[in-house]
Amino acid sequence: MKLVSFDDPILTKPAMPVRRITREVKEIVSDMFRVMYENNGIGLAAPQVGIGLQIITIDVGKNDPFVLINPKIIHLSKKTQSNIEGCLSFPNQLFSVERSLKITVKAKAISGIESTFTAEGLESICIQHECDHLRGVTFDKIGTIFIGQG
Ligand code: ZN
Repeated sequence: MKLVSFDDPILTKPAMPVRRITREVKEIVSDMFRVMYENNGIGLAAPQVGIGLQIITIDVGKNDPFVLINPKIIHLSKKTQSNIEGCLSFPNQLFSVERSLKITVKAKAISGIESTFTAEGLESICIQHECDHLRGVTFDKIGTIFIGQG
């Protein structure tokens, strides 16, 4: 498993829901964590490694690393903020993207148990970014390119 190129068509296609959390799905998840950490990422969506399934891995250093399967953002705060984001699919590019500060997410864990939780700060930004990947939207389509110093 490795990252696909920024121009791979899978990045523009909606991902399919995971029907059953099989051994294969668990292997995909552990491979995704490996690829994410190898590339110093804080979040990864399955389409970024060529797999059209609704799976996200996240580690923003706040809570333990976690997996979201078939995530749905069921509430977005009206209050938004522009953030400078990177993406493992677009090395060396930064985009400024307007995001809700606080979100409510419904998703399954790797155990198959579904839960609803709220996220804010970097975790909220990261989940919104990865959920965009699952609907085939990359940040260059919704943000503005950021030319920073260095
Ligand atoms: Zn990304």
